[in-house]
Amino acid sequence: MSRSAPLVPSALPVLLTAFLLTACGAGVHGTPGAEGLRDPYFPKAGNGGYDVTHYDLRLDYAPGSGAPRLTGEATLTARATQSLSAFDLDLDGMDVQSVEVEGSAARWNRDGQELTVRPRHDLDRGETFRTTVRYRGTPRTLTDPDGSHEGWLPTRGGALALGEPVGSMAWFPGNHHPSDKATYDITVTVPKGLRAVSNGELRSERTSGDRTAYAWHTGEPMATYVATVAVGRYDISRSTAPGGLPVYTAVAPTEAKASRKVLARIPEIIEWARYNFGPYPFSSTGVIVDRPDTAEYALETQNRPVFPGTPDLETLVHELVHQWYGDSVTPRSWRDMWLNEGFATYAEWLWGEDHGGDSAQRTFDALYDHGEDDDPDLWAFPPAKPSGPGHISDTPVYQRGAMVLHKIRQTVGDDRFYDIVQGWAAAHRHGNADTAQFTAYVEKMAPHQDFSTIWADWLYGEGKPAHR
Ligand SMILES: [Zn+2]
Repeated sequence: MSRSAPLVPSALPVLLTAFLLTACGAGVHGTPGAEGLRDPYFPKAGNGGYDVTHYDLRLDYAPGSGAPRLTGEATLTARATQSLSAFDLDLDGMDVQSVEVEGSAARWNRDGQELTVRPRHDLDRGETFRTTVRYRGTPRTLTDPDGSHEGWLPTRGGALALGEPVGSMAWFPGNHHPSDKATYDITVTVPKGLRAVSNGELRSERTSGDRTAYAWHTGEPMATYVATVAVGRYDISRSTAPGGLPVYTAVAPTEAKASRKVLARIPEIIEWARYNFGPYPFSSTGVIVDRPDTAEYALETQNRPVFPGTPDLETLVHELVHQWYGDSVTPRSWRDMWLNEGFATYAEWLWGEDHGGDSAQRTFDALYDHGEDDDPDLWAFPPAKPSGPGHISDTPVYQRGAMVLHKIRQTVGDDRFYDIVQGWAAAHRHGNADTAQFTAYVEKMAPHQDFSTIWADWLYGEGKPAHR
């Protein structure tokens, strides 16, 4: 252990002075962790110098008649990956009340989304340490580079938290980059009569006076961008899928009737996906179906994807398959977004093929021949190289991403293709992976095939490939 450089009083014995200088010379002093992880699209997202292993979030939410109020206490357990004199957390908005590291008050300051924490004592490399941040305020709704909204979305009498790519920093301080995954306990206290739904499994529900606390536990690693909280009035249904997998659905009462039929297919979709993609990666599943005006898009929040309004079957399949590709195998950076969306989109094609719809080949051909009629941006950039942070959710990432997978399938045949997609989910289960790892994996699984044209033209090449 070392301390921040102390002032040495002139009366201090020479020997002790020498000792302190030696300690400095031995290089045991920490340095500040980086303020970002240099993501190619969101360079300030995440922070250097530590790795979070667990988030314990205690939130109290009052929707109220005026500005909604969130009071939070976030305790992060993290491991230092370098000796640290200071480190950053990402938090956008909210008023910070106090920060403690290992039980001692820490100095802190804020600059934009960076909350810089200076612990009283330097942290050693490899040390596990706990940081508690107390904060309150009205959480922000953030506007993404593509104009869509995320973060904390107030709803009629409640709220919905969505975090792709960086919205979760609006409601809790953390290491908000997909490369740092952790387990979670999220406890949300709300006015009695409302429900708070989150990721993982509901451990307890306790009413005291006019407030009810819902405690949720996520035991498998989760990226911050797929963390969620939904507060409101929901019809709750609990059931089990084959194999005993718990299914927990929360549906806005206005959507209950319309969604009954499609949600009844969740067990069947999970079974189909297990058969194609391997074991389901988490301890529970389900959905949150909110009112149509709460959000602009569905999101694959872990265990329990969120839908604004009753989903159609294809969208339900898409978000549930994201549990394998996106939530369990998570991109190493936002450049690798196609590893999420290409897979989830291709799963829609496969579902159609397996259920009396068009074959994936036919879907591919229709896109190749006429895709730009539906979206002129289909060929705007290659899936593995989005043209900027405002384009990581554009059509090429989804549709061209799915076309890359179809090209692989054409090359290796069905048996090997399913070995590849299942093997990929198994090899990086609960972890992170990037595009270079994916192409290397495909080449390893089919060593006698040549993929160089697929990579060059379909994955990384500009414009519409000349050959299908
Ligand atoms: Zn998706």
